[in-house]
Amino acid sequence: MSVAPFIYGGASACRYNAPDSCILLLLCSNLAAVRSMDATMKRDPIDVFQLIAMKGPDECWPFIGNAWGGQKRDKRPYFMANGRRTMAYRWVWELVTGEQLTEADMILHSCDNGSWPIGCCNPHHMRKGSHADNTADMTSRQRHGLPGTVVRAIRRLLDQGQTQEEIARLYGLTRETVSAIATQRAYKHLGEDNGAQ
Ligand SMILES: [Zn+2]
Repeated sequence: MSVAPFIYGGASACRYNAPDSCILLLLCSNLAAVRSMDATMKRDPIDVFQLIAMKGPDECWPFIGNAWGGQKRDKRPYFMANGRRTMAYRWVWELVTGEQLTEADMILHSCDNGSWPIGCCNPHHMRKGSHADNTADMTSRQRHGLPGTVVRAIRRLLDQGQTQEEIARLYGLTRETVSAIATQRAYKHLGEDNGAQ
């Protein structure tokens, strides 16, 4: 009914139906901000599944939130609930196993997709290990290069007569990388292709 001269946005701008008054609208927007911050703090761990694309049991379940943390090459998906911020897949592990992880517990991914851009949250792709396990895992899987499975698949394609250019296009790699694999200048430590992972 009363229309103040300082109206900002009008009543429709306020989801709490504050009256048409500039000061009340400001208070109201502050209240909304506090409530949404509060909601983040008190978010339930189970809400992590809202940020996960759950696919088939054998597929990777990508994290679809936008909270990625960590170093450039090793960004991890993060989720905050109950005032605690940790990796989304760690929340999933705790929810699925009912076990609270300690800081010493590492979650290892058999799919090697724990970091950006997938941040796999499929519990079937996770296992718990120690830091030492993780270091061994990282070395054996060459996390900072191509996964062994990819290198072996590339070798197989080369053996089958695919050109380096075709393979480079298929995997989104440079010709140089494929050439280095072909000539054994790179990934030599992975050994011969024996069909095993
Ligand atoms: Zn996965």
